[in-house]
Amino acid sequence: MFRTTIRARAVLEGIGLHKGRPSRVVFLPAAGPTGLRFTAPGGVPVPARLQSVAGTARGTNIDLGGTILYTVEHLLSAAAGLGIDDLDMEISGEEPPAADGSALPFAEALLKAGITGKPGQERPAAAVIPAFEFVKGETRYRVEPRPGPLSVKLVYDYPHKLVGRQEIDLELSPEVYLREVAPARTFGFSHELEALKAAGLALGGSLDNAIVINETEILAKDGLRFPDEFVRHKLLDLVGDLALAGLPLRGLRVEAERSGHAGNVNFAKLLSEKAQKQ
Ligand SMILES: [Zn+2]
Repeated sequence: MFRTTIRARAVLEGIGLHKGRPSRVVFLPAAGPTGLRFTAPGGVPVPARLQSVAGTARGTNIDLGGTILYTVEHLLSAAAGLGIDDLDMEISGEEPPAADGSALPFAEALLKAGITGKPGQERPAAAVIPAFEFVKGETRYRVEPRPGPLSVKLVYDYPHKLVGRQEIDLELSPEVYLREVAPARTFGFSHELEALKAAGLALGGSLDNAIVINETEILAKDGLRFPDEFVRHKLLDLVGDLALAGLPLRGLRVEAERSGHAGNVNFAKLLSEKAQKQ
């Protein structure tokens, strides 16, 4: 099994979700075993790793060496979900394009560029991580070794009559990720939107790139893509945040409840620490 990258460059343009400004991502093949990396045009690539995380408020943000790159989790999710080991992502702007609020446009661009093995560059074996649990408040994560692709059970529970408790349990081969996870869109509650906008967030948000839930209805362009689209999006975010651990995302069974970016990143830190002790 060789490490993977893409065959050709791919470009996606749009506006950022939180800042609302034009942005563009260029996916570039990576020659070496350099992992997933971000760069500003002309800048030095920064590994998409935990030590570069600059914050987790409404998204996962990366320090590009002085400037902050916001909301990287959907890009990372697409790359990790498709099993891409090495990829450079050049971002023009403060955050990647929001696209349709899911990871599908990124995944499709990467697939169109072509995913290819790199002969001579062996993939590392799956990390050996002992079973452990991480609980903080109502958030809970659990992991144990399990052969095969990353297996995840996720529970999302929100006290709203149109949302309630949603649960998903999947073995995330690239095919399953593409079909069952990548299309799930980001969502927000209308009662939060004013506060987000006052804080300078969600400025590019619209029904073109997010699902909005108000007291009585779910506003989703062309309807929901899955009856449980919310928990699937939480899974999409978790895959992206776990990629920051820099570990091969296989050979593990993860169970998570009420996950969010801060919890995901802390859980990824623990995974990384436990893997290093082996
Ligand atoms: Zn998300």
